[in-house]
Amino acid sequence: MTLVRGTFLDTPVAGELRTLDGVVQVEDGVVTARGPASDFPAPDVDLRGGVVLPGLVDTHVHYPQVRAIGGLGMPLLDWLDRCALPEECELAAPDYAAAVASEFVDGLVRAGTTTALVFGSHFATAVDALFTEAARVGLRVTSGLVVSDLLLPADLHTSPARSFEEGLALAGRWHGVGRSRYAVTPRFSLSCSPALLEASADLLGSLDDALFTSHVNENPAEVAAVADLHGGYVDSYDRYGLLGPASVLAHDVHPTDAELAVLAARGTAVAHCPTSNAALGSGLFPLRRHADAGVRVALGSDVGAGTGFSLLKEGLQAYFAQQLLGPEGVPLTPADLLHLATVAGADALGLADQVGHLSVGMRFDAVWLRPPSGSTLDVVLRSAAGPDDALAKVFALGGPADVAGVWVDGTRIRS
Ligand SMILES: [Zn+2]
Repeated sequence: MTLVRGTFLDTPVAGELRTLDGVVQVEDGVVTARGPASDFPAPDVDLRGGVVLPGLVDTHVHYPQVRAIGGLGMPLLDWLDRCALPEECELAAPDYAAAVASEFVDGLVRAGTTTALVFGSHFATAVDALFTEAARVGLRVTSGLVVSDLLLPADLHTSPARSFEEGLALAGRWHGVGRSRYAVTPRFSLSCSPALLEASADLLGSLDDALFTSHVNENPAEVAAVADLHGGYVDSYDRYGLLGPASVLAHDVHPTDAELAVLAARGTAVAHCPTSNAALGSGLFPLRRHADAGVRVALGSDVGAGTGFSLLKEGLQAYFAQQLLGPEGVPLTPADLLHLATVAGADALGLADQVGHLSVGMRFDAVWLRPPSGSTLDVVLRSAAGPDDALAKVFALGGPADVAGVWVDGTRIRS
């Protein structure tokens, strides 16, 4: 049993910030009690100074694109051709993939991310390298083999039969093993034939509790190209039975109302990736339309089109995007931003009963933010008017440099 002293902020109820300046008791990785410090003996771990948040949940991030971060100045399809895809081809080499896997997992943990739905690699050996590294470090990861058979460089192509066999083998090694789970992952329907999407559906149907993830409605030129190839974008997945409550589609910046209705009916979640949307000029995310339609939304960093691993930055950019939408935007509060980065992500990934907040019965996945003494965040936190104000300052100024500790299942995986 471990008693952790600190200032804990979380959002078990959407829109409501909960604060505990006290103690959280952790046994076998699970929160078993919480309350004022006077209710407990002397703590084992003292995290006073700064704030403790639930571990952050990234619902869309590309493992092979760490080294592609920062390719600014291009729309989606040009960025893929010139920045992302040449780098993704490099992961055919096992040593290269292992190095990138290490950089990637380390980048997530340094940012305070404890759970992630990760877009894997087109190469099975590289996906093994990712799962191996995530398990070694302790990250809670869901990932899978990315598959395509159209449009991309030939090195990144597979066949329907091979995609099924390699996916099944990877899932056999990793799905449900420790904290790892498998996600069936066609890259996007623009790079997938009907036969490959059918094979993806076969694989999904043959695995218990696997996730499905892909991209949708990111950029107008992409949406038009998908329309030529498949017809509707959401329908290009839905017609194969790929959309359900365990499905996460990234972006959805340009949905039709009919598509939002389908996503809501299927229970499919959307990973909103605001720095990526801004960097690629994809557009301002219609959060209000998603909310009105009843579509679940969480946050993703979308590294490497996104500009870093920190979900604090994504939260801030989500806030900016909604502000820029004027009356069509949703005015997000600090509690909303934390909810998007934690509880909403856990819910999108089917982990809402395990992580996302620090209530009794939940896993102790947490991040301690203690800014360096004298940093601007340190200065402004000391003058915060209250917990909501402190959290606003964390989203405005916080980043990986402020992460002083990260826990998964009660085990500290970064100091
Ligand atoms: Zn993406």
